[in-house]
This record gives sequence, structure tokens and C-alpha cells, in this order.
Amino acid sequence: MDERYCQSCGMPMNAPNAEYGTNADGSKNEDYCKYCFENGKFTRDCTMEEMIAFCVPHMAAANSAMSEDEARQMMFEFFPTLKRWKEN
Ligand SMILES: [Zn+2]
Repeated sequence: MDERYCQSCGMPMNAPNAEYGTNADGSKNEDYCKYCFENGKFTRDCTMEEMIAFCVPHMAAANSAMSEDEARQMMFEFFPTLKRWKEN
């Protein structure tokens, strides 16, 4: 299992040139993408629902076979498994 996803927005990050986030000391953070996590903190302070609402149009646009409703439903199942949104 070498499939990696951003643990905040669910973006696939298994490409060799995946755009990882950065820690406060400038090192890369492999849990999050650079759009979510920069210089040791999240770029957007939001709830999981807000993150999903933000991502749905991008996901639907990237998958022509997927409607926005389907993208939203998929994310509501997927996002609670991500580190940022997981219930402790
Ligand atoms: Zn992300």
C-alpha cells in the first residue's frame, strides 16, 4: 500500500513530484499537500464540511463521470478516515 493522500483534502500524493506541505522548519510534511499545510500550519482553518464543500467542484471537474452529488457523497465517506478529521 503506497497510496498516499493529503490527510486534509484527500488529494492523491503518490506522484514522484507530489506537492507536499512544509513544516515550520522548512522540511516537508508528507501528511499534507502544500495547499493545505504550509510553514507548520493549515492554510485554511475550516471544518470538514467546509473542506468538502470547497473540494466538491474540483473533484467533479476532474472526474467527468462524477456529478457533484456523487463527489460529495464519496467525500463524506472518505474524509472521516483522514488524519485531520478523524475522531480521536
Ligand atoms: Zn491537501
